[in-house]
Amino acid sequence: MPRQKKINSEAELEEFVREVAGDPGARVAKAVGDGATDEKIEKDTSLKLSEIRNILNILHNCGIVEYNREKNMTSGWFTYTWRVNASRALQNRLLMTKKEYEGMRTKMMGDKVVIYKCAKNCSTLTFEEAMDADFACPTCNAKLKFSDGTKGMRELEAKISALEKIVDSKMRLENPLAEAARTTKTS
Ligand SMILES: [Zn+2]
Repeated sequence: MPRQKKINSEAELEEFVREVAGDPGARVAKAVGDGATDEKIEKDTSLKLSEIRNILNILHNCGIVEYNREKNMTSGWFTYTWRVNASRALQNRLLMTKKEYEGMRTKMMGDKVVIYKCAKNCSTLTFEEAMDADFACPTCNAKLKFSDGTKGMRELEAKISALEKIVDSKMRLENPLAEAARTTKTS
């Protein structure tokens, strides 16, 4: 049996953040934590406010952060307080990994075990498709990397089952009723 890389929710969340928003994204997510305003994030990360907003937008689109908006009655301006939603982020991560897995499985139908993947993970191509695309990602134009399809599938399977466990235990912690519903449904 291949040795499985141990997956924990913090490490998985950080990897997700780094994949979508790089190192600056990881700094912003760390500063956001359980709640922070744009100004606090700016102070903690020393990044430019425009860059911070851009990163927050990406993280929000991936379901990693959420916000509360409050209007200042004197100035009329809105204050945004950001917060990391780890459960939702990991649920999205699980969905995305499943999608990647399905994509890969479709490509591997028949004998097409040679797979080329974008370095940024946005596309998976067969050898023929990669040739047609001159080994550049059709989405972001990054160089395509050769990947061992069978090994990749096994890694994704391990990752999906680990993520399912994490998401499952988080859901049970947050919502005891979900556990009851799940037990009823599966029996
Ligand atoms: Zn790409």
